[in-house]
Amino acid sequence: MSKKTFPLSRERLEELIRTYPTPFHLYDERTILGNLHAFQNAFAWAPKYREQFAVKALPNPRIVQLLHEAGAGTDNSSIAELLISDAAGVKGSEILLTSNDTPADEFQKAIELGATINLDDITHLDFLKRVAGLPEVLCFRYNPGDLMEGNAIIGKPTEAKYGLTRDQLFEGYRRAKEMGVRRFGLHTMVASNERRPEAFRFTAQLLFSLAIELKKRCGIHVEFVNIGGGFGIPYRPEEEPLDLPAIGDSIHKLYDEMMVPEGLGDVHMMTECGRAITGNAGWLVSTVLHEKDTYKHYIGLDSCMANLMRPAMYGAYHHITIAGKENEPCDHVYDITGSLCENNDKFAIDRKLPKIDIGDRVIIHDTGAHGSAMGFNYNGKLWCAELLLQTDGSVELIRRAQTVEDYFATLRFPGSIM
Ligand SMILES: *Cc1c(COP(=O)(O)O)cnc(C)c1O
Repeated sequence: MSKKTFPLSRERLEELIRTYPTPFHLYDERTILGNLHAFQNAFAWAPKYREQFAVKALPNPRIVQLLHEAGAGTDNSSIAELLISDAAGVKGSEILLTSNDTPADEFQKAIELGATINLDDITHLDFLKRVAGLPEVLCFRYNPGDLMEGNAIIGKPTEAKYGLTRDQLFEGYRRAKEMGVRRFGLHTMVASNERRPEAFRFTAQLLFSLAIELKKRCGIHVEFVNIGGGFGIPYRPEEEPLDLPAIGDSIHKLYDEMMVPEGLGDVHMMTECGRAITGNAGWLVSTVLHEKDTYKHYIGLDSCMANLMRPAMYGAYHHITIAGKENEPCDHVYDITGSLCENNDKFAIDRKLPKIDIGDRVIIHDTGAHGSAMGFNYNGKLWCAELLLQTDGSVELIRRAQTVEDYFATLRFPGSIM
């Protein structure tokens, strides 16, 4: 079981809404740091373990800053994310670029920042050298193909556009070495919201055997093994959280059995989680605007799928509570909708909830990763604000709400009619 709570009392929430009108995402610093520490503890056995927070999950510089201050680096997949990392104080090799179909300017920015570059394809080696030069530390992303099954979000590895095949991987390291690169890492990312602990052990095992083979066949002693992100969280209250200490222990055992005897006992371990760090630390807070009874009972919010697209995009479950009605019986059935002119703009379908009234504050749980981050402006819907509840109890605005003026900004240029 995972208990679904909200960190503010009803009174405190109403007070906050007087300053920051709904909708907004609220993030809890204490939960975020607790999640990071849980990873750091689970991998405390590993030389120089580092979590490379996947910026795409929650691309806000304040969040990245507080994670960095607590020992995390970042994993980035665009120029904007690289700039967020830089602004948040993440520097040099703490920055990892894991992109695909990469444009030249992304490679150039990564080289300029001294980032470690993780290549998605063998052809990118020559491209990178030509457009930006080679980095100090180079890594390749392995796609294990049919050695793994994959899941609904990320798909089967054989159908996934990411990474190099096994043969290409060896060829890539060999060529990079010939081109003068001296320091290497090894990476894969094959999971998304994975909740089977043995999946991570299996990933580590694949990478450890590759690291050993790279040493034997190519004389390459990788500096780090990055087992990727994709650690799942319990979106449903009846689901259990991952047992991170057990996952850490099982990978530790493998490391001692496989890596240490081969002289690879100094290889650093990395993860690059997004969801498992910020997912359960975010809530989308909205107000009920309308109640509508037709063939179904609808509750219409002042937010929409532009603020949280996961239910519409993946059919994902997000738990919902009504502020002040946490202990009332869930004896009503509603579709909870936004205002977008798309019928999939529903946060929940046929959800059992307490009786809802206009003006109620609806709290959608677990929106801290891939929530605001996946925002979009279709239908002219705007991004909402992001707030950070700090460990001292104060609340800080970390992204203001987008305005119509922001939305029109790209339509205003000399000669435009706006
Ligand atoms: C999205 C992504 C992550 C983070 O995934 P989570 O499921 O949020 O942990 C990590 N690495 C890469 C390369 C990604 O694309």
